[in-house]
Amino acid sequence: MILFLEPVLKENVWGGRRLVTEFPYHAEGGHIGECWAISAHPHGDGVVKEGEYAGTTLSGLYREHRELFGNLEAEEFPLLVKIIDAETDLSIQVHPDDAYAREHEGVPYGKTECWYVMDCPEDAALVIGHHARTRQELADLIAQDRYEELIRQVPVRKGDFLQIEPGTVHAIKGGFLILETQQSSDITYRVYDYGRLVDGKPRQLHVRQSIDVINVPDEADTKALRHTDGLPENRLNLLEECSHYKVWKLDLKGSFAFEQKYPFLILSVLEGSGTVDGRKVGKGDHMLFTCGHGGVTLEGELEAILSTVGGER
Ligand code: ZN
Repeated sequence: MILFLEPVLKENVWGGRRLVTEFPYHAEGGHIGECWAISAHPHGDGVVKEGEYAGTTLSGLYREHRELFGNLEAEEFPLLVKIIDAETDLSIQVHPDDAYAREHEGVPYGKTECWYVMDCPEDAALVIGHHARTRQELADLIAQDRYEELIRQVPVRKGDFLQIEPGTVHAIKGGFLILETQQSSDITYRVYDYGRLVDGKPRQLHVRQSIDVINVPDEADTKALRHTDGLPENRLNLLEECSHYKVWKLDLKGSFAFEQKYPFLILSVLEGSGTVDGRKVGKGDHMLFTCGHGGVTLEGELEAILSTVGGER
């Protein structure tokens, strides 16, 4: 079975217009920052659009029909796939790991996330990691508002892929369009928000939690980034495999068939168009192949990111 969900669009102070002008999404409001495309998170639970389970939320399906997800033991549907359109800079932030999220926030998942850069300006950079050598130095630089010295800027280009481990200070900047695959969590600790006002007030910072969870010293930049140019066509190119997810890139030219042998498999079309098992799909379409789907046949010319749950199974 292939599930198609109604995407959940989010308005954000830093969001742009691309999700409603370049993609087949609809939303009220001016600054649309995120499309939660495959999500069972309570803050944006996707509803199945058609077929036997039309009208059911993904969280409900996961609860009632675990067999569709290979009888996974994870207590909530583990992944969230979204597209982010940043017109201006996002806050500098950090996420906790599962243990910290459970203890301090009462939720099952912290947030490991990864980004595929769908578009960005020339000579762009993202904030990945920091330069503090000790936790005291980290606390001092934050207390003294010395963010330019603290944060590390990493040059990034279109097509790059970045893995953001919990505890990694990071920020998406204006001009980036990103496909994010992440644990199903929205626990974010804001370290710095450029002094911006939202509705006349600064957004809340979470300095204490940030200092708790930020990795010191930080080596994220040496491990986080990989370029994806020159990957072979018509195969699933593994970009990341961690305990939370596996993520692949596919450049389809012509036709390609493979076996869906995972508890579930998410496919997001980033560019181009074609067919999946004979059904027309195009840029901005996302789908979830349930467990036991078997063979998948793709035809056309398109770029896609695929993902499934990680870990040994
Ligand atoms: Zn993040």
